Amino acid sequence: MTNRSLLILAGDGIGPEVMAEVRRVVDWFGEKRGVAFEVSEDLVGGCAYEVHGAAISDATMEKAQSVDAVLLGAVGGPQWDGLDFSLKPERGLLRLRKEMDLFANLRPAQCFDALADGSSLKHEVIAGLDIMIVRELTGGMYFGEPRGVTDMNDGTRVGINTHRYTTNEIRRVTRVAFELAKKRGNRLCSMEKSNVMEAGLMWREEVEWVHENEFSDVELSHMLADAGGMQLVRWPKQFDVIVTDNLFGDMLSDVAAMLTGSLGMLPSASLGAPDPNTGRPKALYEPVHGSAPDIAGQGLANPLACILSFAMALRYSFDLGESADMLEKAVSGALAKGARTKDIAQGGAHLSTSEMGDAVLAELNAA
Ligand code: NAD
Repeated sequence: MTNRSLLILAGDGIGPEVMAEVRRVVDWFGEKRGVAFEVSEDLVGGCAYEVHGAAISDATMEKAQSVDAVLLGAVGGPQWDGLDFSLKPERGLLRLRKEMDLFANLRPAQCFDALADGSSLKHEVIAGLDIMIVRELTGGMYFGEPRGVTDMNDGTRVGINTHRYTTNEIRRVTRVAFELAKKRGNRLCSMEKSNVMEAGLMWREEVEWVHENEFSDVELSHMLADAGGMQLVRWPKQFDVIVTDNLFGDMLSDVAAMLTGSLGMLPSASLGAPDPNTGRPKALYEPVHGSAPDIAGQGLANPLACILSFAMALRYSFDLGESADMLEKAVSGALAKGARTKDIAQGGAHLSTSEMGDAVLAELNAA
């Protein structure tokens, strides 16, 4: 028996294809390194709707709440596009995020040397890039009340969404970001719009409070979110960890992600509060990409985003930093030797999904 539990929700489209390669990696760590996981698998998204009539069942939700980490593939597909909003595959993902209270979304933007020429930015701007964006995920503009569209009965309408944050919401995500900075380059940059938004000024003040009272040994800077967007494309290597709210984080993390090339390369983690018994945070790990119905079932999907999401689980849920390093090095090594799926091959020869899995396992075996 092991005290590390993992729930795998492969989902729809390419989800099961990329997750099959992750499963081989998970098994490799158990067999070859004695780092075993108690793995269970279940349904989420369209495939769950077909069986349960809902994008995630209550039983699956319960499992997700009880394990140390959930690893998700992707959800969605055109066959479910016509469903009512409450039944759509994406509801499964939203329910997981909401009920597990996953308030901190971690999106690394890391450029593997072998892929530096695939970026739309110049090689020297991007080579060696390794930054982390922490986006607040459960508050702010996407959730604040009041919200909605009101008909003014004079031929016009008013649309309202509310940017709302409490002290607690800002402080808890800021703590996650400071903790990460301590384990990396010891620098945190907070982004908001304190020049035009009262709630932005309060964000800045609360971040400063956490800094002064709990993390004064970490270097803190502030930047207006629009300037931050410019700096991310001008010279991204100036950053180590960035913390920002839900709306700005949505945009800035996508900007940072595309610096490094393909969607098929991007992992993410969403973390909640630490469990009082184990100290492990509630956690969901998933690639940034969707279910890619255009390439599903053809062996063309790049499994590296999902494999790198598992590396994040090793690091942030299981405190297995060395195993995470080893896996990231294996990915980097496979790329350095020329392993490419179609999305990163720039028109050249390419491997299938499982051949990319083979290449990573070969690097692990050689380590
Ligand atoms: P997508 O990320 O699925 O695909 C966008 C493009 O990137 C496609 O051309 C696809 O082939 C390519 N791509 C994505 N992942 C890849 C990989 N691993 N390897 C190689 N190429 C890859 O986004 P989309 O097309 O806008 O959405 C498709 C479906 O996925 C929709 O139903 C959408 O709602 C859903 N979706 C789900 C998630 C999620 O589960 N987290 C996220 C985004 C979209």
